[in-house]
Amino acid sequence: MEKIVEVKNLTMSYERMEVLKDVSFSLGQGEWLSIVGENGSGKTTLLKGIAGLLPLKEGSVSFGGGVTRKTVGYLPQQTAVQRDFPACVHEVVLSGCTGSMFGFHTRADKHRAHEAIHELGIEEIHHRPYCDLSGGQQQRVLLARALCATQKLLLLDEPVTGLDPLVSAEMYASIHALNKKRGVAVIMVSHDIAGAVKYSDKILHIGSSVEFFGTTEEYLESELGRRFAGK
Ligand code: ADP
Repeated sequence: MEKIVEVKNLTMSYERMEVLKDVSFSLGQGEWLSIVGENGSGKTTLLKGIAGLLPLKEGSVSFGGGVTRKTVGYLPQQTAVQRDFPACVHEVVLSGCTGSMFGFHTRADKHRAHEAIHELGIEEIHHRPYCDLSGGQQQRVLLARALCATQKLLLLDEPVTGLDPLVSAEMYASIHALNKKRGVAVIMVSHDIAGAVKYSDKILHIGSSVEFFGTTEEYLESELGRRFAGK
């Protein structure tokens, strides 16, 4: 299977504090990888390193299968600022095409935004202000925004955190459909271990370095997986 992402011997730090050390793993086309681990273990930092939003101290991140850093879709962890963003749904989704909220958009960008809105079933709310939406609707809009940038690889940071169980299930169903029907590979950071083991093909469990990397089945049979996933 052709690799879509390969992370080799990655070390990352803030100022002098090393957060990740010697992290290596790879992902094939169309696979779903979940990154799990304790709070503060560096999951978000790793995802930002893959997305090219933070510098790498050592090691490398490379893409295959026609993916480049510009064609990776990224759904950030929600912040209060984003929740209050004064733009309508359509504009937020469209900004995923260029990464800029007020940039120039081509006809192709608009077409991609339209398709992403359709794909995630948010046509009815596409003129509404983003800040007026429920948490679940906002996450769906941010998923459509990420999809605007990509055909092949989505990086999702805590996509269901803060959502109630029903809304979480709907969000997972949307991601699952993109992954299985459209073959979009997914790297998801999550606290929701039950969701991670239910949907992922592979698990990366990090502490200060890699504590486990392998298939979900192997993880559930490992001591760490049994402890963490409670099986
Ligand atoms: P996780 O996503 O696993 O909870 P993070 O990647 O958010 O972990 O954070 C890893 C470590 O890096 C934590 O100790 C956190 O406090 C620290 N950290 C995160 N962001 C910054 C930052 N912008 N500046 C300095 N330290 C940070």
